[in-house]
Amino acid sequence: MTIMGEFCMFYGFDVGGTKIEFGAFNEKLERVAVERVPTPTEDYELLIDTLAGLVEKYDAEFGVEGKIGLGIPGMVNADDDTVLTVNVPSARGKKLRQDLEAKVKRDVKIENDANCFALSEAWDEGLQDEASVMGLILGTGFGGGIIHEGKVFSGSNHVAGEFGHTRLPIDAWFHLGDNAPLLSCGCGQKGCLDSYLSGRGFELLYEHYYGEKKKAIDIIHSYNDGEEKAAEHVERFMELLAICFANIFTANDPDVVALGGGLSNFELIYEEMPKRVPKYLMSVSKCPKIIKALHGDSGGVRGAAFLNIK
Ligand SMILES: [Zn+2]
Repeated sequence: MTIMGEFCMFYGFDVGGTKIEFGAFNEKLERVAVERVPTPTEDYELLIDTLAGLVEKYDAEFGVEGKIGLGIPGMVNADDDTVLTVNVPSARGKKLRQDLEAKVKRDVKIENDANCFALSEAWDEGLQDEASVMGLILGTGFGGGIIHEGKVFSGSNHVAGEFGHTRLPIDAWFHLGDNAPLLSCGCGQKGCLDSYLSGRGFELLYEHYYGEKKKAIDIIHSYNDGEEKAAEHVERFMELLAICFANIFTANDPDVVALGGGLSNFELIYEEMPKRVPKYLMSVSKCPKIIKALHGDSGGVRGAAFLNIK
């Protein structure tokens, strides 16, 4: 994949609950400007003005009208384009994309932050020739994004890649045993993968089986020290992850899967998945290449900017 055409700039905004990160990227996809400002969480007009102000400032600096992409911690309603978000109350229920378009007089693209994360990975120099790249985030929650031929596949209702709100597969239920916890999810369902595979889920499962609250990082340290409960927990979790990953891979068949979020720093995942996933796949299927995300914290802003590449 190559970027065609005239001199242009790609602007990305990663709109978070506390700060907005802005990044400008040139046609070689090199970041040439970065700026962080506090997110106006209560005042919608101020939010629009803040975004537009950055656009105008960098347009003037580069002498070009940059192409704009927004990454948001939430969803856009496919029927009326309103934003559904918990973390940025000022944007809730608002037509953020249209209102910013009216202000800056050009097209604006908008996607949820997990899709931006996946897109950022897909446009890494080493992955640009892969037809399909999936991003999976093992963070506070569990979510993901599907990139095909360098573009986000967001689906009819913009929920493609929301693997966190699919439910535990039957294999997982058997694997967790008679004492398996049926965890409630913020979406209103029970048994969503979000409650099990996230860093939070890793901690909840530990608490469920051992009656003790422990941070994920401490469980991993105990595991590294050879502690018995931690070893049993990690063994159970790795198999659970493999079962759930295999279902996702069967439905989507990606070439490469990039993992992000705090738990993605647990190196054992990259050793264990290629060994454990295949037995839950179809016989014609292979485990995709699973790598640690290459762009970490800058993924959101890169992905938002790259919404306009193709
Ligand atoms: Zn859910």
